[in-house]
Amino acid sequence: MFDYLVVGAGFAGSTLAERLASQAGKKVLIIDKRPHIAGNAYDRHDDAGIMIHQYGPHIFHTNSRQVFDYLSKFTKWRQYQHWVKACVDGQLVPIPINLDTINTLYGLNLTSMEVEKFFASVAEPREQILTSEDVVVSRVGRELYEKFFRGYTNKQWGLDPSQLDAAVTARVPTRTNRDQRYFTDAYQAMPAHGYTRMFENMLNHPNIKILLNCDYREVVKHIPFKKMIYTGPVDEFFDYRYGKLPYRSLRFEFETHHTKVYQPAPVINYPNDYAYTRVTEFKYLTGQEHSSTSIVYEFPQDEGDPYYPVPRSENAELYKKYQALAEATPNVFFAGRLATYKYYNMDQVIAQALALFNKISTSDDPIIQTPTATRSTETAPRSNGNGGSPRSRRRQMEEIIKS
Ligand SMILES: Cc1cc2nc3c(=O)[nH]c(=O)nc-3n(C[C@H](O)[C@H](O)[C@H](O)COP(=O)(O)OP(=O)(O)OC[C@H]3O[C@@H](n4cnc5c(N)ncnc54)[C@H](O)[C@@H]3O)c2cc1C
Repeated sequence: MFDYLVVGAGFAGSTLAERLASQAGKKVLIIDKRPHIAGNAYDRHDDAGIMIHQYGPHIFHTNSRQVFDYLSKFTKWRQYQHWVKACVDGQLVPIPINLDTINTLYGLNLTSMEVEKFFASVAEPREQILTSEDVVVSRVGRELYEKFFRGYTNKQWGLDPSQLDAAVTARVPTRTNRDQRYFTDAYQAMPAHGYTRMFENMLNHPNIKILLNCDYREVVKHIPFKKMIYTGPVDEFFDYRYGKLPYRSLRFEFETHHTKVYQPAPVINYPNDYAYTRVTEFKYLTGQEHSSTSIVYEFPQDEGDPYYPVPRSENAELYKKYQALAEATPNVFFAGRLATYKYYNMDQVIAQALALFNKISTSDDPIIQTPTATRSTETAPRSNGNGGSPRSRRRQMEEIIKS
C-alpha cells in the first residue's frame, strides 16, 4: 500500500514525493508517462556528447532563499547570470531594453538620465493597464513595442498582445542603465551536473518507487494508495467536463555545429523574422567545454505537449470551474503548472509544492483505492532518468501488483 501516488515527476511531483518520503516517512509511488524523470526540466547528453535541455532552455533563478536552500540539498551549483540579445533591424541588441539597446538601435550616445527622458517622451500613458499591449506601450511607446514585443508575442502565443493579460509582458522590465542580465533575482545558477542528476538525487530515497513510460490512468485501478498528488493538466483529470483549457506548445529543432561557439549570446530572440522565436546555445548555460556546440530553435504551435497555460481572463474563468472541482475531490491534491493552470517558473512551482507539503504532511487518511489483484507492498524497481520499453514498464507494473 502506498501512502501517496504522485502523478508527474517534474518539479511539483518530485518535490512533494521527496518531502513526503524523507520528512513524513510516507511510501510514495511516482508515475510519469514520459520515459524519464524531471518533467520539462529534463536534460541529457545528445549524440555529440553535449548537454541539452530537451524541452527548451531552463535557467534557474529565484528570490526565495527557502527554494534555493531546498534544491541545494540535491545539487551543487554553477554560478550563471543569463543574458539575451534580440535581433532587431539587423542588429543584435540587449533585451530587456536598456541604455545600450536604445543607443545601438538609434545610433545615439544617451546617458541614463537622458534615456529616462527618452522613454518618457515616447511612452503613451493609458488610463487602465489591462492587456500586454497596454503594459509595453505605456512604458516605451508604440515604436519599441512594434520592434521588440508585438511580433514575438504574436509568434509565442498566436495572439496579439492586445488579447493577452497584462501579466505576460509585466515580466519584461525596461532599464535605463547598462545592466544586461535577463534576470535580477538574488539566486541565479544552474545545477552543476544538470537538472536530471538533481532529480535523481531528490528521488533517491528507499520510500520512493518510480514508474516511467506510464500514463497513471492505465494503472490507477490496480495500485493501492491512500492519496494522490496530481501534477498533470487539470482539465484532463476531469475528462474535459467544461471544455479544454487552452495551452500553447512548442516544437524544438536541435542542431549540432562543429565549431566551438555558434552565436554571440546564450539566447538570441527573433521578434520579427523567421517562424521560430529564439535560438539557444546550450554550452553558455551549462559551461561545458566541447569542440562542437548544440543549439535549439523554438517554434511555437497550438498542438503538442501542453507547455504554457494561456494567460487570458476567459481561460482564468474556465480554470476556476476546474479549480472548484479539484477542491471538491477528496484525497487528491493538485500542484504544478498544469494542475493549477498557472504560468509559473520552476521556483514558483517548488514554493507551491513546499507549501502544499506543509499543509498536508500531518494528516492521516483513509485508503481511497484498493487493488484489483492481491494486496501490494511497494516493490516497483527503482529507476532513474530513462524508463525503458513498454514491455519493461509492464513488468514493473506486474511486480507492483503481484507482490
Ligand atoms: C520552453 C520552456 C522554457 C522554460 N524555461 C524556464 C526557465 O528558464 N526558468 C524557469 O524557472 N522556468 C522555466 N520554464 C517553466 C518550467 O518548465 C516549469 O515551471 C516547471 O517545469 C513546471 O514543473 P511541473 O512539475 O509543474 O510540470 P512538468 O515539468 O510539466 O511536469 C509534469 C509531469 O507530469 C507528467 N504527466 C502529465 N500527465 C500525466 C499522466 N496522465 N500520467 C503520468 N504522467 C503525467 C508529464 O509527463 C510531466 O513530466 C520553462 C518552460 C518551458 C515550456
